[in-house]
Amino acid sequence: MIKNNRLTTEQYEHNFSDIKPPFETQDAALVEANRCLFCYDAPCTKACPTSIDVPKFIKQITTYNVKGSAHTIFQSNIMGAGCSKVCPVEKLCEGACVYNLMEEPPIPIAKLQRYSTEKAINNNWQYFERKKSNGKKVAVIGAGPAGLSCAHILTREGVDVTIYEKENKGGGLMTYGIAAYKVTPQFCEDEVNYILGIGGIEVKYNQELGKNISLEELQKNYDAIYIAFGVGLANKLNIPGEELEGVEDAITFIYNLRSKTYKEISVGDKVAVIGMGMTAIDAATQAKRLGAKEVTMVYRRTEAEKSCTQHELDIARLDGCATIWLAAPKEIVGENGKVKALICDVMQLAEPDAKGKPLPVPTGQTLTLNVDMIIKATGQNPYSNIISAYAIDNTKGKINIQQSATNVSKVFAGGDCVNGGKEVVDAVQAGKDGAASILSFLQIKN
Ligand SMILES: Cc1cc2nc3c(=O)[nH]c(=O)nc-3n(C[C@H](O)[C@H](O)[C@H](O)COP(=O)(O)OP(=O)(O)OC[C@H]3O[C@@H](n4cnc5c(N)ncnc54)[C@H](O)[C@@H]3O)c2cc1C
Ligand code: SF4
Repeated sequence: MIKNNRLTTEQYEHNFSDIKPPFETQDAALVEANRCLFCYDAPCTKACPTSIDVPKFIKQITTYNVKGSAHTIFQSNIMGAGCSKVCPVEKLCEGACVYNLMEEPPIPIAKLQRYSTEKAINNNWQYFERKKSNGKKVAVIGAGPAGLSCAHILTREGVDVTIYEKENKGGGLMTYGIAAYKVTPQFCEDEVNYILGIGGIEVKYNQELGKNISLEELQKNYDAIYIAFGVGLANKLNIPGEELEGVEDAITFIYNLRSKTYKEISVGDKVAVIGMGMTAIDAATQAKRLGAKEVTMVYRRTEAEKSCTQHELDIARLDGCATIWLAAPKEIVGENGKVKALICDVMQLAEPDAKGKPLPVPTGQTLTLNVDMIIKATGQNPYSNIISAYAIDNTKGKINIQQSATNVSKVFAGGDCVNGGKEVVDAVQAGKDGAASILSFLQIKN
């Protein structure tokens, strides 16, 4: 494995440019907006986890009211700009568009959402005012989508919010996890600054719960605490050879890609990516776009059981990534301390059409992939150590909540740390729910 010296700056910029470019002209946006049928029961709004009033914001675009359109979006989703770039819309709003039933392309809802919200952010159109401080103080752990969304609603109601964030930038996985061809670091920074622009939210960077601060301290100093620290590193494979040089965790691989220059990133010639979720797809496509000659995605189940969307898989395939289904990693073989091959058990379904756990074929057949890098993307591990240390009720590390409240006094939670890892738009909604519960707990009427 070598540091990336395969790409010129121009090639890198080309490979990592915006995968879903914006409308080039106002007319192009208007043509699409005018296709909307403004359905009475708006299946798109129902399919959006933050319930954005899609027909309303599209109608506002058709009447040249872009400012009002962005207001409609931000009212339901303060990260509406980021969501317009990263939402897996084929399984959300656009997947529900009635045009699909007519076998016509759905309204490009996300692209229209981007059209309005980008203008709002670029012009710093601030729509929400913070009420006068009511003296209540809330600490939020994590400046990701859930934490920011919760903080924004609380500050609107006059609560003084302090966010404790372990990294030196906000945005969470939006900044450190999602592929660079979906959102650039500059966009993430602009979006975070836009959200914080309302005032009343102090972010304390490089402050980690469990290291620099404790829950007890926060309970003493704040009226409520909202935990939104997401989930941690990728799960271990627990197979021989996992410690060899060249075996990397997908989250670390992508984190490095998002926080360093591409020349500082090591990528193999022949890469195996283990897993078939969105993280696996992002790791595979980015390894290929960084110049890996071969990338093979390995999944122990069938194609029908993949957790990424078909659209995401198509992106990986168009990038030239290969797939192997029904193959479970068994051993990593090394030479001189470095990865040389991945051996997998060939699997079969326990019962012919069962969704149960696949089993190795009875003949014990294996397959070997000669690779010099392995990226693990088989789900993420919750921060069980912190959660258990503070006796927070949980199921396998996922925090249990009731209307966003945990079992611990004054402590609320939401986002990936509760759902185990979904989408940005789900985390934004969780933040809204968390803020509503905290306001009710603090007896603040909104
Ligand atoms: C590789 C990858 C690709 C993805 N791609 C997409 C996509 O294309 N579209 C999409 O919608 N979703 C995608 N997701 C999912 C999405 O990023 C998450 O669902 C979303 O970011 C969750 O938001 P959150 O606020 O709950 O957590 P996070 O975004 O993880 O934010 C948590 C924040 O808490 C901080 N933190 C952690 N521990 C502590 C601590 N102890 N003390 C203080 N701060 C702490 C973290 O640094 C982070 O800033 C992807 C996820 C991954 C991993
Ligand atoms: S936030 Fe996402 S799911 Fe909701 S309408 Fe916008 S693009 Fe669709």
